[in-house]
Amino acid sequence: MRRILIADQLIDGLSHTPIKNGVVIIQDQTIDAITTKDQLGNDPEGEIIEVPGGTIMPGFIEMHTHMHCSAEPEAYEQVTSETHEELLMRSVEAVRSTLISGVTTMRDLGSKNEIAFAVKKAVSEKKIHGPRLLVTGTPITTTAGHCNFFGTEADTADNVISALRNQVKLGADYIKIMSTGGVFTPRSNVRVAQYNSDTLRLAVKDAERLGVRVAAHCHGTEGVLNCADAGIHNLVHSTWLSADPAESWDYRPEVADIIAEKGLWVDPTIAIATIRTEKGIPFSDQEIAASAVLSDMEGRFAILKDMWDRGVKFVTGLDTGMSYVGFGDFAYTPQTMVEGMGISEMEAIICSTLTSAQCLGIDSETGTLEANKSADVVILNGDPLSNIRRLHDVDTIISQGDLIKQTGKVLI
Ligand SMILES: [Zn+2]
Repeated sequence: MRRILIADQLIDGLSHTPIKNGVVIIQDQTIDAITTKDQLGNDPEGEIIEVPGGTIMPGFIEMHTHMHCSAEPEAYEQVTSETHEELLMRSVEAVRSTLISGVTTMRDLGSKNEIAFAVKKAVSEKKIHGPRLLVTGTPITTTAGHCNFFGTEADTADNVISALRNQVKLGADYIKIMSTGGVFTPRSNVRVAQYNSDTLRLAVKDAERLGVRVAAHCHGTEGVLNCADAGIHNLVHSTWLSADPAESWDYRPEVADIIAEKGLWVDPTIAIATIRTEKGIPFSDQEIAASAVLSDMEGRFAILKDMWDRGVKFVTGLDTGMSYVGFGDFAYTPQTMVEGMGISEMEAIICSTLTSAQCLGIDSETGTLEANKSADVVILNGDPLSNIRRLHDVDTIISQGDLIKQTGKVLI
């Protein structure tokens, strides 16, 4: 099957300058060539899909999902009480919803009962529809620690290494470890580290031996410091919360420099609050009082922008499945990077595609529009370089060569 995609401009994920009247030629599952309408000739062979006024770009990469969580206000109660079968059904729907929003690669960053492995297999065998999946299995946490109810508690360094090896044995593409407590887990402490840097360093070393990378959840500054020190490949949240509950932030610019120097990626989960605001679901006074991120959103954006200016590489994780954070909501992340943090539209698009593919170690396969890469392509209505919100308006989706959506109509 040969398809020719044509639109007013093409963003390839590499260049900061779009190609005018860009064309992608797809042969089966692979990009055959990138060209322009002028060079196409009069009667090119293949099915033509043209979106006047549109923008062709690589498919989005969602770096942070919990596929079996509901995204409903009761997400915590549901995930801690539902049966394996109920969670599995939620996952099947979640991966489909994610795909039809334009996400062609997705990383599950923690789920229970080994569900993500079964879903990944079903997607790769085309039994169900979903994006290319990379999965971490169950996250590694301390007893009573963040997301302990997902099932892998490990307190000592030896236990952490055993847990990590077990996830690799089950099929994990990436390792997730909880370096501090989290908001989703009552009684875990978001401001204090769950593991010291020696334990994290051993985890990184053993993961690298096994050919996988490590992503670590970190809210409190102590946890961020431990992750930076240990060389955790992907810091998740990186919230810089002070250990003192009376303070919001304890940001250390010199550690941001170390994160940049070591080439570690940061997934700032920047859009969770944006989604609530945009969907018209206000925060209660109690929620705002309990969260530094909500009570000082500008302060959080300023910290992230300073990290960016120091050369830290950002990837696009939304934390889908958490309350109100839906599986079709990807575009809120680059939107918030532009409108909140203040980077350019093109920079946010490159974070959403190439940089995220690099963090996953799959940039030779996807993340840019280049010949011989996987045909993971979206066409937007309009120009996201003049309005980043155009990323919400996906006209056409091709995932590994399969036509998922065309002219706004979902075909699966
Ligand atoms: Zn998460």
